[in-house]
Amino acid sequence: MKPGPAQGAEALVVSGNILTMDPERPRAEAFAVRGGRIAYVGDRAIAKEAAGPGAKEFGYGAGAVIPGIIDSHNHMLWTGVQRELADLGGCRSIADVLDVLRRYAEAHPEREWIMSGSGWHVETLAEKRYPTAKELDSVSSARPVFLPRVGHAAAANSEALRRAGIGRDTPDPKGGRIVRDAGGEANGTLLEPPAMALVGRLAPPLAPEDRRRALRSVQKAYLAAGICGIVDPGLAPDDIAIYEDLDRRRELAVRSVVMPLAQTDEDPEKLLAGLRAWGVRTGFGNERLKIGAVKIFLDGGASLGTALMREPYPDEKCQCGIQVTRTDTFRRIVELCASTGWSVGVHTVGGRAIDIALSVFVEVDKRHPIGDLRFSLIHAYLWPTTDNIATAKRLNVGVATQASMQYQFAPILVRRFGKELVGRATPVRSWIDGGITVGGGSDSPVTPFPPLMGIWHAVTRHVDALGESIGKDEAISVQQALTMYTRGSAWLAFSEHERGMIRTGMLADWIALSEDPLAIEPMALRDIKVTQTAVGGEIFYGN
Ligand SMILES: [Zn+2]
Repeated sequence: MKPGPAQGAEALVVSGNILTMDPERPRAEAFAVRGGRIAYVGDRAIAKEAAGPGAKEFGYGAGAVIPGIIDSHNHMLWTGVQRELADLGGCRSIADVLDVLRRYAEAHPEREWIMSGSGWHVETLAEKRYPTAKELDSVSSARPVFLPRVGHAAAANSEALRRAGIGRDTPDPKGGRIVRDAGGEANGTLLEPPAMALVGRLAPPLAPEDRRRALRSVQKAYLAAGICGIVDPGLAPDDIAIYEDLDRRRELAVRSVVMPLAQTDEDPEKLLAGLRAWGVRTGFGNERLKIGAVKIFLDGGASLGTALMREPYPDEKCQCGIQVTRTDTFRRIVELCASTGWSVGVHTVGGRAIDIALSVFVEVDKRHPIGDLRFSLIHAYLWPTTDNIATAKRLNVGVATQASMQYQFAPILVRRFGKELVGRATPVRSWIDGGITVGGGSDSPVTPFPPLMGIWHAVTRHVDALGESIGKDEAISVQQALTMYTRGSAWLAFSEHERGMIRTGMLADWIALSEDPLAIEPMALRDIKVTQTAVGGEIFYGN
């Protein structure tokens, strides 16, 4: 992983079917690389000359070469940490869960706690329920087993419950629930953070060196999938320090834009004091590591039923979701950011959250113009209106969308809202037609990061679990999907001047693909293999 000093500066020629994503020169037969940047794009003979005598050539007779993919919403550190824990992401039944945990427990006798990452979903288990404490006791009755899950729930074994002092008579904590069996005993399921925390706070956190190792090693998987850059949203200062540490050791291969998290329960004035104390703002950093926008949560999630809706959920007539940050607090944070040169990326899933975010942006923009700060809406999928799109356009607000999420959660959403409505969720085509810059991404580890899967879904809108495509009106072309994952994301990463295209002067980040995505049957897009990944002219994957 360590970039050798000479390698990054090595002169190279890449030739073949080059899809540059540069509207001024969409195709080329070669490009030259010098000092980690693209020195020339065009004819092969001139590229060889530009690279200089003795330059190594990578010639691709088949497939295509495109700019390195950038995932505009990807918790890479969290994804790495998940991989240090038992990974339940691929489990399809409770037997699978127990199996993964047993293997993990065996492989890690040194870890007192057997813990999973949180990127798993009850909906993907055949039983559609959490494993019980008794079932988890079969993994270990002596060591605590604790399985937190994205979406405010966790499963624990009897030893974990015992250590937390959870018994028959333990009352539910405020805002949380200890689920009980028919006999009144806690069955191991803990709902919402206050209940999860009863066990979670006892679990030892991963040591900084484990987290550093996690971030270092997860990059290999990203590079193999064609991801050369990410935007990691919502980080605490400790997390950002891990990125900084890796960058200083020259071990950060995937270009990273880190978004500091505005804690919703914290006084916004304290946040401002913190931002001022740093003496930096969005865009600060270097080619590998840069500070992005401040991340704020406005609502919850669609699959959880906590996204803030304009109208009550059809199956829960009484509630419209959860507003995580109060509007006045949100307004204050946005105001502080706009007045100090910080960009803002706001998590909005439901329509009401989108409305609130944009109306606050409009209001703040009158006092502190936000157009140059390129604020963004993250997710923005349960029915943005044409008004929302027009407002976003006027304020130069971008959108970070995640096709992998639409793919994964479509079955749950269809059950909740029906096919018609879900087909209109994530109106990527409407955003693009409305002139909005849209960045592609995955929200990994919430949904899987391989970008070709996301590109495939954005184009086909096909959902395997439903056996059909939904919302084809909002499908986009392959060219648009590729643009979204390159130039669109580069814009959201404050890096469009140096990434997202194969163009002279830009950073030499490219990937080679086994097939030309513009030439194959759209349903086959997800089967395309990444055969080489280079960042800054250095080959990190393939050969
Ligand atoms: Zn996220």
